[in-house]
Amino acid sequence: MTAPVVVRAPAKVNVQLAVGGLRPDGFHDLANVFLAVGLYDEVTATPADRLRITAAGPDADQVPLDESNLAARAALALARRYGIPADVRLHIAKDIPVAGGMAGGSADAAAALLACDTLWGTGASRAELLDICAELGSDVPFSLVGGAALGRGRGELLEPLETGGTFHWVFAVADGGLSTPAVYRECDRLREDSGHGYTAADLPDPQPSPRLLEALRTGDAPALAGALSNDLQPAALSLRPALADTLRTGTEAGALAALVSGSGPTCAFLAEGANAAKAVAEALMASGTCRTARVTSGPAPGATVLG
Ligand code: ATP
Repeated sequence: MTAPVVVRAPAKVNVQLAVGGLRPDGFHDLANVFLAVGLYDEVTATPADRLRITAAGPDADQVPLDESNLAARAALALARRYGIPADVRLHIAKDIPVAGGMAGGSADAAAALLACDTLWGTGASRAELLDICAELGSDVPFSLVGGAALGRGRGELLEPLETGGTFHWVFAVADGGLSTPAVYRECDRLREDSGHGYTAADLPDPQPSPRLLEALRTGDAPALAGALSNDLQPAALSLRPALADTLRTGTEAGALAALVSGSGPTCAFLAEGANAAKAVAEALMASGTCRTARVTSGPAPGATVLG
């Protein structure tokens, strides 16, 4: 009997998400600065008679249990590449909000890939694993790597970034998710309506902010606060106007800065330190402008085998 393999993978916040125009292939070019934070999903892989997915946690009822689950797709992709059957049970202990703009599904995919690689002894190289991650989704390679990284292209071309300290964060989790494709469509619609054009031909190539990269490198939270940006925020706010109240509540409670995390609806608040983060979380919980508030920090490591 082979022992189960447990892998945990982190959530992310985009400290910069610069979105270029709509490309002819339907994607957008991005300058995407990812920071992994200490909220984790855990995937346990156990030998089984066929591919089976189970999930537990507060949002488990929103996790698909068929082959559309990103963890299942990761197992199938690895099995296909090595010509072996994907006979595995993947149990997802879900702590990352579903459809929350924190790359929860991507974390599960990276965790499942590493867990199956370990369980099956496939011995795939890091480069092969990253290659499979990029096929699975734009955010999946970052979930494997963790830390901080600049993503170009659709977000899948990764360059690790140096960080000079720990950043303290609060995440306000909303009731119900937002669909990432719907938020991109809304972003295109708002740009089109503004009359400034919205295709890749109209808009310049998105670039990372030198000020932001320097703040990450030096671990300077106030400087990072001044440089945070998310081009998807207007679209997320347009689809979910109540998020403006959440952002305001956290700012009034002393956060250095507030922004929508990725495609939302989770809102992210950068705090000066652990105590300030706790105060922001308490104010958010008391306000009723979110379902719950989570205190954590980053950078966090990428997908890691726990045993
Ligand atoms: P991102 O930040 O990468 O845009 P997200 O965090 O907003 O993503 P996810 O939680 O990854 O969104 O899930 C988006 C959708 O993907 C879900 O609504 C669900 O239907 C589907 N999905 C597939 N696999 C998973 C999984 N393992 N966990 C959660 N959702 C999954």
